[in-house]
Formats: sequence, structure tokens, C-alpha cells
Amino acid sequence: MGELKVSRKRKKKNTIIDVNGVKIGGKNIVFIAGPCAISGKEEIIGIAKALKEKGADMLRGGAFKPRTNPYSFQGMGEEGLKCLKAARDETGLPIVTEVMDTKDVELVAKYADILQVGTRNMQNFSLLKEVGKAGKPVLLKRGMSATLDEFINAAEYIAAEGNNDVILCERGIRTFNTYTRNTLDLSLVPALKEKTHLPVVVDPSHGTGVRSFVVPMGKAAVASGCDGLMIEAHVDPEKSISDKDQTIDIDEFGRLVEEVRKVAKSVGRG
Ligand code: PEP
Ligand code: MN
Repeated sequence: MGELKVSRKRKKKNTIIDVNGVKIGGKNIVFIAGPCAISGKEEIIGIAKALKEKGADMLRGGAFKPRTNPYSFQGMGEEGLKCLKAARDETGLPIVTEVMDTKDVELVAKYADILQVGTRNMQNFSLLKEVGKAGKPVLLKRGMSATLDEFINAAEYIAAEGNNDVILCERGIRTFNTYTRNTLDLSLVPALKEKTHLPVVVDPSHGTGVRSFVVPMGKAAVASGCDGLMIEAHVDPEKSISDKDQTIDIDEFGRLVEEVRKVAKSVGRG
């Protein structure tokens, strides 16, 4: 078997992934921002324009949503993907969106610039193999109870299919804490950087579940050595169709970018 393809032992240099000209894993910190779920075309275009103006590099938003309650809004499906595409046409921002099911990989890959695999699917091995064959970079979120080793092996499933463009995302894990939705495990960032050559992104929105904690933990994440942030943001957070309590508004996103840039500079990043 030997060393894993994603292992730092196999490749010393950092993997830099070029997504329509946006490089992730290099010197610059990449900001991926957008609503939790897509709920309309004009809305997502408005959000994308506003976020781009404040410094976003990529647009996120779910069209297929993994909801805890089966009666909650499940996402717009292909209509949502079309909305995202319209927002990309308008702004040029590459789009990151989740795929939940092997049967939808081909469809989602037609629209997405990066395929997101969510925390609940980190060990859905059939899905990992399928996204490994889809010809698009993958943003893999850490399972909410996954160890470092399990996370790395999940990434290896994708790489084993010949797709080395995997971005790892820490999004918080389950602990005894109740004051945050999850516990953002920032020690994972240096651990992943030591063990793998892949870009690492941190999601302080799901990581904390608390709007006012997003900026401080975003800064902390960048200080810990990550390559980018994934942020839930909306022009009117209270109108978010899901995860509104952790969604920041456009001004707050602007503050985040400004403050993170200072942190980035102080740790030798762009
Ligand atoms: C999301 O990014 O909207 C999402 C559902 O994230 P996670 O899989 O980390 O819960
Ligand atoms: Mn969400």
C-alpha cells in the first residue's frame, strides 16, 4: 500500500488548486462566502455582488441541503444550481455547492466549480468515489465525529480515483459544549498541514453556530495556518432560509475580510 497519495511524505510541496484563476493552498487566504441555502435567483445574485465587493473570492450556497428534520426545506435542487450559475455569470465568482447523493454527482458537477461533500457524508464511501471521478475539485468537510486519521482516509478515497484536488474543511466537532453548536477544532489545522499537502479551509459558521463568534474564530483560524475560510453570509441574515443564527451580514463580512487580512499579514500570508 505504501504512503497515502494525500500524505506529506509522498509530496513535500503544498498542493495549490487553481479554480478558474482563484488559487487555494498558496500564499493568499481565500474567502468562500454565501448563504447556507439558495432560495432565489435575484437573492443570490444580490448576495454574490455584495460579497464580491467586500472581498469574497468564491460563492457558496446549497441547492441540495442535508437537513436534520425531513420536513425542513431540502433545497431547490437543479433550480438552485441554475441560480448559482446566474450569480457566477454576473460576478465571475467560482461556485462551491454540496452534492449529497451519488445519483446527483453528474448534475451538480455540470454547474459547480467545487463539489462540496458535507460532514454527514464524510464517510459515504460510494459518494467519495463518485466525486473522485467527477473531474472537479472537492471540498471535503470533516465528519462531526471523525478523527484526523478518518478524515485523511476519506480524502484518500477521492485521491485514489485520480482526483488530487481535494480541499479539507474543519467545521467543528461534537463535544459536551452547549454554548456553541459545535466545537471548532483549530488544532486540526496544523495537524492536517503536517500530515497532508492539501489546502485546508475552516468554517467558523458551522464551527460555532453563533453569528458574533464568526469573525473572532475566522481570525484565529487564519492565525492557525489555514488557507481559506468558508463563511455563511447573507444581505439580510434574518431572511436566511436555514442557519440564520450563524449567518453574518455583508458589513460584518467586510469587517472579517479587513481583520483577517491583518492577521494574514502578521503570519506571512497574503
Ligand atoms: C453547509 O456548508 O451548508 C453544511 C451543511 O455544512 P456541514 O456539512 O458542515 O454541516
Ligand atoms: Mn449551513
